[in-house]
Amino acid sequence: MKNTIEREGGAPVRIPEGRLLIDGQWRPASSGETIPVFDPATEERIATIAAASAADVDRAVQAAQRTFESRPWQKMRPLDRGRLLEKLALLIERDAEEIARLETLDSGKPYFVTRNVDLKFSVDALRYYGGWSSKIAGEYLALSPFFDDGGTYRAYTERRPLGVVAGITPWNFPIGQAIQKIAPAIAFGCTIVLKPSEEASLTTLRLGELILEAGIPEGAINIVTGYGAATGQALVEHPLVRKIAFTGSTATGQRILASAAAQMKRVTLELGGKSPTIILADADLDKAIPGAANAIFPNSGQVCTAGSRLFVEEAIFDEVVRGVAAIAGELRLGNGFSAETQLGPLISARQIERVSGLVESGIAEGAEPLAGASREERQGYFYRPTVLKNGRPDMRIAREEVFGPVVLAMSIRDLRQIKALANDTVYGLGASVWTRDVNKAHLLASQIDAGTVWINTHNILDTAVPFGGNKLSGLGREFGSEAINAYTETRAVCMRL
Ligand code: NAD
Repeated sequence: MKNTIEREGGAPVRIPEGRLLIDGQWRPASSGETIPVFDPATEERIATIAAASAADVDRAVQAAQRTFESRPWQKMRPLDRGRLLEKLALLIERDAEEIARLETLDSGKPYFVTRNVDLKFSVDALRYYGGWSSKIAGEYLALSPFFDDGGTYRAYTERRPLGVVAGITPWNFPIGQAIQKIAPAIAFGCTIVLKPSEEASLTTLRLGELILEAGIPEGAINIVTGYGAATGQALVEHPLVRKIAFTGSTATGQRILASAAAQMKRVTLELGGKSPTIILADADLDKAIPGAANAIFPNSGQVCTAGSRLFVEEAIFDEVVRGVAAIAGELRLGNGFSAETQLGPLISARQIERVSGLVESGIAEGAEPLAGASREERQGYFYRPTVLKNGRPDMRIAREEVFGPVVLAMSIRDLRQIKALANDTVYGLGASVWTRDVNKAHLLASQIDAGTVWINTHNILDTAVPFGGNKLSGLGREFGSEAINAYTETRAVCMRL
């Protein structure tokens, strides 16, 4: 394969070698097996990555365990773990344009997004958790003994790193998700084996080059590429893995949770969603209409918190739905390297089939398309931004995650329905409420069963704010101070003075 690919708007995109990063060394998969990589905007084959076997995974986990137990790692000053993350942040900033172009090539998302969102989010997360490395604190407690034996009893607690973490990531925010696993793991003293999605591994491999350049100790961060059912499963089942940090679909998350139970591995599961966007009649429609479009269409709807169910009060329903459909019709689809492009392709042929199938099922069940509802007739996995009205909560498309640029609009007749409608889903990841009435906004925020509720905005994520899902949307929280619980365990030491 060529190791550079020409694309408009900048230097040729360099493709990192499709090897595995194990114990500070790049190696091919022991089986020699590879996986082809396609540009979703052109369907052109652009690279191959290694398909790691169970033996490769074992080597990576053993290396992570050795480093975790090693004296230098155990003795490393917390501030120095933070400095390693800062070095990585500086290297990413140095190469940001190149990495963003690689992400655009591999995932299809527009360059202005990869450069200004994905890369900035990654650098922010490294700095945020770098800061936490020296702020891991325990408690000092006075005990209340049952019998007075003349002693004074005290206890202190300390947070111990869990050990080897398996980080498994999806394809919709490849480098951002990889960093979101690496940064807290290293900050809190764990080591990690990362398995990126087979659909988009290239920027994680490029990150591997920077991990070596930053001088991060060998074995502290390992990268194994490969298919989920082989490489991912071998990693999840490895007995030395103490914690699984997984982001992906609910079906895979359920499988991982079941397999983790045997050894009581710690897990955080960031899974699928079917988030409602709720617009009340008193909302500022100049903001709410573009807000509803922005809740669903960015990243071509491949966002776990995408506002895919749009609930609108009857009095303003037609105006809102027409407005969102007009925006959908004007969005420019195209190659992510073009400055004109607002939306890129979906990730794969499989994904476009899934999205088309769900839209067709919605229409067959009575939903009326106002925009999109078809694939673009051209090379690449482009699906038109789609607005469906006359939705009903019992439709398949109202219940299943589409993970595409498709919103189903439903009218609300009675405000008392909102809580029940919004919560009528197996998911509980995100929700937004659009209203000028502060009381209604906070009342609804308290009633919606979701990990994040936004008021007059949607999809605002920040590393400092805990993030995760309720119900089938996941288990545990990432981001913010919650990550301390996710990557460490408390040890209590009790004493008689
Ligand atoms: P997926 O579950 O198919 O794959 C995710 C990762 O798991 C990939 O790396 C895959 O190789 C691996 N995997 C698959 N089977 C495995 C197994 N048996 N054992 C171990 N690993 C396995 O998900 P996807 O299609 O890549 O991503 C889309 C999904 O991710 C959507 O459902 C989306 O909502 C969800 N997601 C959730 C969040 C969140 O934070 N809640 C963020 C992004 C994406």
